[in-house]
Amino acid sequence: MRTVGLLGGMSAESTTYYYQAMNRLVRERLGGLHSIQLLMWSVDFAPIAQMQADGDWNRAGEVLAQAAQRLERAGAEAIMIGANTMHLVADQVQAAIGVPLLHICDATADAVKAAGCSRPLLLATRFTMEKPFYRERLGASGVEASIPGEADRERLHAIIYDELCQGVVSTASKAEVLAMIARAGDADSVIFGCTEIGLLLAPDDVSAPVIDTALVHAAAGVDFALG
Ligand code: GLU
Repeated sequence: MRTVGLLGGMSAESTTYYYQAMNRLVRERLGGLHSIQLLMWSVDFAPIAQMQADGDWNRAGEVLAQAAQRLERAGAEAIMIGANTMHLVADQVQAAIGVPLLHICDATADAVKAAGCSRPLLLATRFTMEKPFYRERLGASGVEASIPGEADRERLHAIIYDELCQGVVSTASKAEVLAMIARAGDADSVIFGCTEIGLLLAPDDVSAPVIDTALVHAAAGVDFALG
């Protein structure tokens, strides 16, 4: 098995979700006592979130690039950033290492297309929904994502940072996000484009096909590990 390096802690809540998913997938494929061979660097998220809020992406990228280099030195053969938003600095991280970065957008675009869809609604942080890096990369794979309206984007961003990233899972917020999906126009699928959304909603809560980025990214890591 090849060793995967996971940049975690963004947030710690979703890193746990990744770790469980990767172990479950390895067990499903290899059986018995098999589990993922993984190195993790888990950051303190508070300073990173402050850099995001300040727009200091270069600094945040340096922090992740250094962490990725440490994982590579420790033996990681591929790096994963366990969050969508921080893929804004994916190119900076990739440039700092000599092993591949398994990009969450690529795993997501493949999953959208495998579901027979091409016009997903993207639910994510404001950064991921509004900045071009994410939707452009999906677009390059033929996936044209739409985003909720301004008020919904603001509320969803607050639910992610003030609740989900802090381990708060609320039925009221779940109802709010489902209402956002119901307002989504002609989307043919829904991307859980924040790695904590799968802690709030289950695919069965939504009538359209759901692509949970944490799960498809975890699966890409397992595919790499198992060759
Ligand atoms: N985990 C989240 C994401 O997938 C949000 C936290 C962050 O900003 O990294 O974007």
